[in-house]
Amino acid sequence: MKIGLIDIDSKIPNLALMKLSANMKKQGNRVESTSPLFAENYDRVYASKIFDFSEMPNLPDNAIIGGSGYDLKTSLPPSFDRIYPDYDLYNCKYAIGFTSRGCDKKCPWCVVPQMEGKWCAVADIYKFWNGQDRIMLLDNSLNADSDHFERILNQLIKERIKVDFNQGLDIRYLDDKQAHLLSQVKLWKQIHFAWDTREIEWAVRRGISTLITHGLKGKVMFYVLIGFNSTQEDDLYRIDVLQGLGIDPFVMPYDKFDKYQRKFARWVNHKAIFKSVKWKDYGRSV
Ligand code: SF4
Repeated sequence: MKIGLIDIDSKIPNLALMKLSANMKKQGNRVESTSPLFAENYDRVYASKIFDFSEMPNLPDNAIIGGSGYDLKTSLPPSFDRIYPDYDLYNCKYAIGFTSRGCDKKCPWCVVPQMEGKWCAVADIYKFWNGQDRIMLLDNSLNADSDHFERILNQLIKERIKVDFNQGLDIRYLDDKQAHLLSQVKLWKQIHFAWDTREIEWAVRRGISTLITHGLKGKVMFYVLIGFNSTQEDDLYRIDVLQGLGIDPFVMPYDKFDKYQRKFARWVNHKAIFKSVKWKDYGRSV
């Protein structure tokens, strides 16, 4: 069978499509990456849409579509977590995968618990890593379970792989042991945490102090969600605290079309502006 795989809007190589590709090829199919324009040339088309704000292209009626931007219920079977991805689909030179799925927190702005359910370990790195010098971990809550975190970090340290914790780590779980492991691993990108609401200020302050103790201060940044039940005072407070502790904030607007949220995010995220202008001056016109 001739299979067409369509990546509608991914910003990174689409793991689900790479796993589908590996699985389909193993069954003897011819698998190609294609675009909606050529979808009619295939016996079957699979498409993935990650973002709900991106446009849905015209696809054949029998196309099988999935992804968080299309449907929160359609997902690949759990056994796919142990399939080695077909990295050739994107000519991808680094490894990508999940070692755990789900999350036990129930943040109301987040689709992870609905899509993936409770936290569980699903694989170790050897299911999707085979000698690449870099690895991108897509776990939504990698450090929720200390034993699992220790096992995965020890694999990364032993293999000397540069890692990107792409979905961030949860500051509420960070302790001395986890911070020590983080200080031993080779980093591909900055480690990021999230400070989404004022309620977890205690965890943010404690976590930053632990990170500093382990020499990680310059290697971390914090995402700051704004616009989901937060006031402008809350937003500014969190930014001020992080700045005061010497940590880089990066603002994530909940509503990308809201004028204030866009402007606040631009102020913080444009580092030259952030360092030279106060919000009371920059945000005056909002
Ligand atoms: S902790 Fe993170 S992954 Fe879990 S529900 Fe909250 S935002 Fe989502």
